[in-house]
Amino acid sequence: MTTQPRTPWTPYDYDWRRLVAWILERDGHVCHWCGGPATTGDHLVELVHGGSRLDPGNVVASCQSCNATRGARLSGTRTRTLNPSHPW
Ligand SMILES: [Zn+2]
Repeated sequence: MTTQPRTPWTPYDYDWRRLVAWILERDGHVCHWCGGPATTGDHLVELVHGGSRLDPGNVVASCQSCNATRGARLSGTRTRTLNPSHPW
């Protein structure tokens, strides 16, 4: 048996990369969130929230930083919520 390097599961397959290339062209390689140079794509509505993975209308250009930040925030880490109503 040959030992194959384990490939981690990734949703970023060929179709996704091709879509991202198209999205980057569409958005002029500008990050949707911070206006910086975008190198990847990000879902407006995350897949876990029912967003469509390969729908161009649900994908925007994003830089790695914003993509990672959003990903971390959506992965279940506790976030501080701003509550406009005071308890008193
Ligand atoms: Zn950004």
